Amino acid sequence: MRDNDDGLRDLYQEVIFDHNRNPRNFHALEGASHQADGHNPLCGDQLTVYARLDGDVVQEVSFIGHGCAISTASASLMTEAVRGMRVDEVEVLFKNIHAMLTEAHPDADLGKLEVLSGVREFPSRVKCATLAWHTLHNAITQAQATAITE
Ligand code: ZN
Repeated sequence: MRDNDDGLRDLYQEVIFDHNRNPRNFHALEGASHQADGHNPLCGDQLTVYARLDGDVVQEVSFIGHGCAISTASASLMTEAVRGMRVDEVEVLFKNIHAMLTEAHPDADLGKLEVLSGVREFPSRVKCATLAWHTLHNAITQAQATAITE
């Protein structure tokens, strides 16, 4: 049982700490085709997610903002996970992440992103972990409304 494996839990914690200390792709994205702001008032997490799409393929995702360790680590992990995915694949991943964080027995194998699964035990933190994902979802599904013009 994964939930009883202290070694694995420690590893998950370590990955989250690492991504919080050194968030990946933590900058505004030059040449972004999409962007959206996200805010989680329950915790005070606030971020902006940028995406550069080529057709329906995500070439690059970055973010800026401030928030708790969970929100920052989740955003950082997300920027790495979705690179190279098609928009419809990102949408499936978004649904699977949500299921992992809110359901007892999710089916999907989420690989490295399973480090976030511990959040499930802390319902008040689920919104921290999903904030970046909701924000990316908004960014890439809002037609051209959020596109940045030059
Ligand atoms: Zn938070």
